[in-house]
Amino acid sequence: MAIERTKVLIIGSGPAGYTAGIYASRANLHPVIYEGNQPGGQLTQTTEIENFPGYQDGVQGIEMMSQLRSQAERFGAHVISRTIASVDFSKRPFKCIDDRGDEIIADTVIISTGASARYLGLPDEEKYMGLGVSACATCDGFFYRRKKVAVVGGGDTACEEALYLSTLAAKVYMIVRKDHLRASDIMRKRVEERENIEILFNCNTVGLYGQDGVEGARLVRHVGTPEQEEFDLPIDGFFLAIGHTPNTSIFKGQIDMDHEGYIKVKAPHTYTNVEGVYAAGDCADPIYRQAVSAAGTGCRAAIDAERFLMEHGIDE
Ligand code: NDP
Repeated sequence: MAIERTKVLIIGSGPAGYTAGIYASRANLHPVIYEGNQPGGQLTQTTEIENFPGYQDGVQGIEMMSQLRSQAERFGAHVISRTIASVDFSKRPFKCIDDRGDEIIADTVIISTGASARYLGLPDEEKYMGLGVSACATCDGFFYRRKKVAVVGGGDTACEEALYLSTLAAKVYMIVRKDHLRASDIMRKRVEERENIEILFNCNTVGLYGQDGVEGARLVRHVGTPEQEEFDLPIDGFFLAIGHTPNTSIFKGQIDMDHEGYIKVKAPHTYTNVEGVYAAGDCADPIYRQAVSAAGTGCRAAIDAERFLMEHGIDE
């Protein structure tokens, strides 16, 4: 078992983690960044990012994250392609164990573990996982060229996924449980204008069917009302886009979280209830969840950590 010592351990590698890495390394703190299971985070699963300042013509998610990583490394951040398996925040310096059993002793920890796609919780989702069920259109859309697919959800993510899929699939249904889309006006308009997207409002999915893979979804319209009707929707692919769950399970019992698992921070700082532990990005943000707001909190977390180290005389 190897033991590594660092002043700043950054757990997670989305825009929050890499931005924290850029700031901490420029402050000469030699941060260690554990990239986790999905290096670069959720943005590596998206296509074009049009709303990150500085990219006038948009940028591919993978490209932007690769640039952020290189920027952090350029100033001395040490990026490790493994995950942290457990943490002990009961005393300082903090002890963290990675998935190989190696120990990292850290004076401060910045948690930026992000969030993961949510599923409906239907047994059929598990049954057909990889056989027609997906939570990432960019990853799996290619398999559905000229086929029929459905996207569940009515937010910006669902619209983005539906638009992407509409360039590949013959037909895209959006399964929306309310009578309206929650998405922003611009996304809503784009979806409504796309000819091969059809929005099924007031619909809930109760199951999937198919022999060797998804061949259709069982839907209920107007559930719980006198107009309730059940019907089958023949599709080849079923994409989930119903929000996210914060990736914070390894911190349970170690720091304060809300009922959904989002880490509580003392805004405008990134302080958690444990001195020396900070949280940035989607793992602590149930409201904005944008790449740019995550990057902003990553910057704040690095500055919070730097000031803590200075106050405790461990910045040298
Ligand atoms: P949201 O929480 O905004 O939307 C989730 C959608 O899924 C809602 O339509 C919700 O329905 C629906 N939903 C939730 N649970 C269920 C369920 N059990 N069954 C059926 N439907 C369900 O999540 P998003 O991931 O879309 O967006 C998160 C944040 O990221 C937002 O702030 C969004 O603006 C932002 N974003 C911005 C993008 C951009 O600007 N390019 C791209 C992607 C995301 P209901 O409305 O009924 O609650």
